[in-house]
Amino acid sequence: MKKKAGIWLLLFIASVAICNSQQVYENRFERPLSDVLEDISERFDVRLSYDIDTAGLILPYADFRIKPYSLEESLTNVLVPFDFKVVKQNDKLYKVKTYEYARRTPEDGEKMLSYLLSLYSDKESWEQRKVCLQREVRENLGIDSLLSKRVQSKPILSKVRKFDGYSVQNFAIETLPGLFVAGSIYTPLSKGKHALIISPNGHFGDGRYREEQQLRMGSLARAGAITVSYDLFGWGESALQVGNASHRSSAAHIIQAMNGITILDYMLTRNDVDKDRVGATGGSGGGSQTILLSVLDDRYKAVAPVVMLASHFDGGCPCESGMPVTLSCGGTNNAELIAMFAPKPLLVVSDGGDWTASVPTLEFPYLQRIYEMYNARESVQNVHLPKEGHDYGINKRRAVYDFFGELFLLDLKKIDESKVTIESENDLKIFGANGELYPDHAIKSFGELTKYFNKDRYRDLLSDLSIENKAAGWVASLELEDKNDISFLNTLIYNHLRAVRDWHNTHSYTMVPEGINPLTGQALSQLDRQMIVNSTIPDEVHHKLMSGLRRVLTEPQVEAVLDKYTVGKVDFTMQGYKAIVPDLTIEEEATILSHLKQAREQAIDYKNMNQISAIFEIYKTKCEQYLINNGRNWRQLYKDFVNKVNEEKKKTNNNK
Ligand code: ZN
Repeated sequence: MKKKAGIWLLLFIASVAICNSQQVYENRFERPLSDVLEDISERFDVRLSYDIDTAGLILPYADFRIKPYSLEESLTNVLVPFDFKVVKQNDKLYKVKTYEYARRTPEDGEKMLSYLLSLYSDKESWEQRKVCLQREVRENLGIDSLLSKRVQSKPILSKVRKFDGYSVQNFAIETLPGLFVAGSIYTPLSKGKHALIISPNGHFGDGRYREEQQLRMGSLARAGAITVSYDLFGWGESALQVGNASHRSSAAHIIQAMNGITILDYMLTRNDVDKDRVGATGGSGGGSQTILLSVLDDRYKAVAPVVMLASHFDGGCPCESGMPVTLSCGGTNNAELIAMFAPKPLLVVSDGGDWTASVPTLEFPYLQRIYEMYNARESVQNVHLPKEGHDYGINKRRAVYDFFGELFLLDLKKIDESKVTIESENDLKIFGANGELYPDHAIKSFGELTKYFNKDRYRDLLSDLSIENKAAGWVASLELEDKNDISFLNTLIYNHLRAVRDWHNTHSYTMVPEGINPLTGQALSQLDRQMIVNSTIPDEVHHKLMSGLRRVLTEPQVEAVLDKYTVGKVDFTMQGYKAIVPDLTIEEEATILSHLKQAREQAIDYKNMNQISAIFEIYKTKCEQYLINNGRNWRQLYKDFVNKVNEEKKKTNNNK
């Protein structure tokens, strides 16, 4: 009896298992992610903005993930399978983004800081932790190997431009062979030794050339400090060397650190610099660099990271978080990294409008705990501006002027931003507006730098850079005047070319089984199979490009762009038909042209020339069928054309 019950139980379990597996495989309740998000947005009456592309993404068990009682749970549930997340902008607007390893929540930051404080209860244990961080930050960044490959060369210096109370001189320093970092040095007019303030630049529009940065550089110089402003890697003059896309690489993280160290090396060789009064300040991404430089370089005596410091955000750009610095010693964050500066003077400027909103309650109390270990609680300051946002605005500049003014004995009475001359971008460049003055041995592409890094890591970036170049070249050929249109089109075409490339690269021809072409009965070739799989690229990719082009361009300009994609095949093929059919009627010509234009528009979504040609072949067959239907003896016409060409060849050969 017992035995029987056992068997029944087994059968019961088996049937449950079968039932479950049927549920899994029979119906996955799939829907396009974009449709599901649209439904959620309607249902909860919120707007969604997208930092990601939902094209082609299919969500299994779609509607089951929606929780009628919670917008945020619903969004999280439908986005998690794609490693996307949502960030609330306000009650009515949510932004959909990819998972960001560099960005966490203030709650995570709080947990992390309390964990970190549990690791060191006194100065001695903290100092041990510091030793580990000092070593592993350098290792994880990979800075020492790059520093050892630097060239020792004299900086290139421009003429000095004198202004009210200060002067400006552009400079460039060769770091790695052929690679330059360019910037401007603002020097007080007074004689003697001066304090030095290195000012790495962040991601604010117009980079180091923007007005706010010039006001700050000039004002501090008027007050008696030499200030140095320089480009991000792949921005400003650096972009003229290595391209904009190279900024979005982990190499930027290392190279920018190298630039900061190399610039300080040079500045400390100058007789007018007082090495006991050396500081650094930068806003946003410049704040990230300030924090990192303070860890890597013990020559700094005071630093002021502005609108950047947080325990829950490392900076979202690869130039801030591209290398795994925050994995050092089992996990760290910017608050702990800047704490290593204790007990030297530190000013943290924060605001209520970005991730630094948590500084007064989270990061600052943590920093005070560390500074207290040195009995130096007063050496760390926080100026928090709750009503302000993410910028290096006047109130933030004032806080920084006061901080360095007091520490470095500057003449604060001379701070008067209205006396600072704002120069043009080109005035601040040392290699000319378009980089025409770069020395001959200067490298001309990011590719020349990959030998210093793990090459495989940059394969995608190099492809991105070549696509960036291609898009920019096509847009330049339109000779447009409006800067915004140019930049919009550069991005639009770049994104389309990338989407086509990525679809091709992630969809192998092997996804289509071997078989026959039902029209011809012949076996499908590798090209056929690749084209079948490439043709499944979501329509949105095409429509986004076409509607974008039509938004800013005239129809002939749109056609010019499509001709670039298809290397002028419409015109070339049309000339062929005219040669084969010398008495082509206007109507015939119009019909053929319309077929060829269809071919062109279809072909732009294919990756390479073989595929583009194959699309044109489809439409050429249509054209020829049309001519035959129109009473043309295509075979004979083609034969006559070939004979004529051959005869002409003979003639020219005989004449030789
Ligand atoms: Zn960056």
